[in-house]
Amino acid sequence: MKAKLDELKRKNLFRELRTVTSSCSGTVKYKGKECIMLASNNYFGLNVNPKVISAAKKAVEKYGTGNEASRLIVNLDIHQKLEQEIAKYKNCKSAILYSSGYAANLGIISSVVGKGDFILSDELNHASIIDGCRLSKAEVKIYRHCDAEHLEKTLKVLAVKKRKNKEGKILVVTDSIFSMDGDIAPLKKIIGLKKKYSFILMVDDAHSIGVADTNFKEIDIHMGTLSKALGSQGGYCAGSKDLVDYLRNFSRSFMYSTGLSPSDTAAALESLKIINTNEKLKSELVKNYTYLRQKLLDFGFVALGEYQIIPIIINDNNKTMLFQKMLENEGIFVTGIRFPTVTSARLRVSVMATHTKKQLDVALDAFEKVGKKLKVI
Ligand code: PMP
Repeated sequence: MKAKLDELKRKNLFRELRTVTSSCSGTVKYKGKECIMLASNNYFGLNVNPKVISAAKKAVEKYGTGNEASRLIVNLDIHQKLEQEIAKYKNCKSAILYSSGYAANLGIISSVVGKGDFILSDELNHASIIDGCRLSKAEVKIYRHCDAEHLEKTLKVLAVKKRKNKEGKILVVTDSIFSMDGDIAPLKKIIGLKKKYSFILMVDDAHSIGVADTNFKEIDIHMGTLSKALGSQGGYCAGSKDLVDYLRNFSRSFMYSTGLSPSDTAAALESLKIINTNEKLKSELVKNYTYLRQKLLDFGFVALGEYQIIPIIINDNNKTMLFQKMLENEGIFVTGIRFPTVTSARLRVSVMATHTKKQLDVALDAFEKVGKKLKVI
């Protein structure tokens, strides 16, 4: 272990926790200083929304702090209600909750496919999808990032293989908005392939709930998380009644893990209601990410993505971590992302609907100042 840790340190890949002492909303308290928060997945600021907090408090008073058993043993009425609301939101018949998005991906993929089946996975899919694929023991084929043509080529080869050997289901799985790249999968093109090839389509909506519309009826498995835009904690899967019944009976991360806490469940329920009814939140988010990305591009940064996640590609571990530190000194909280999460080191900037223009301008000044000092721009 020591040798491996030393190697990480030599390559500037050692990870340390940065401890904050406040809620993570538009700002965050770090090392005693109020910083502008541009590193959170709390895209609508709902973790500090008074209605969401009040719903969570009421749930604690009514049900206590924890669920204390698997859902198969203790199933709360609010768990059921949240599952119904998620199913409705996703235009599906049914939904199931997990203790996290990570647990959802593990539980779904490893129970839906197994030995003798095939998984076609985008090369930049989230680690929890990758781990679900590994756990399933299905044969995994990686297709090039967001490349529906390459996916089709892979499906064609598999179709020939399957003609010879009739066994084996095919699962195509992709993030919708990619967590470290901020771009979106070509879902319409992938759905188009379903007319020619037979496969199950699973989409991970972790970063797109409330942000981009991905509720296509051709998607068989809608996976997502309550832990980002919904300001809570937990994961979900929405789909047909058979799928959900199947997951309740076969996905081990659901069966053998404690049900979501009452406060997390109630908070997510309230957040979902807000996202459903408050169009302004989404338009504010669009306004903020359009402004921030364009300004960063104008400065000369390689600022990618299309939505609220804006990766700034640096391609150098040392410089990336120095950039993070120098921004920190300017009162801006951003995270440097390195291998193995990504292959090209970057700053992952994520913007919220609740950031003010003034906050964004202060952050932009700091980006320009540090970017020039480090000769990134
Ligand atoms: N899928 C994607 C695309 C993610 O980015 C994440 C979290 N980073 C997860 C799944 C896991 O979700 P959770 O944090 O709720 O475990």
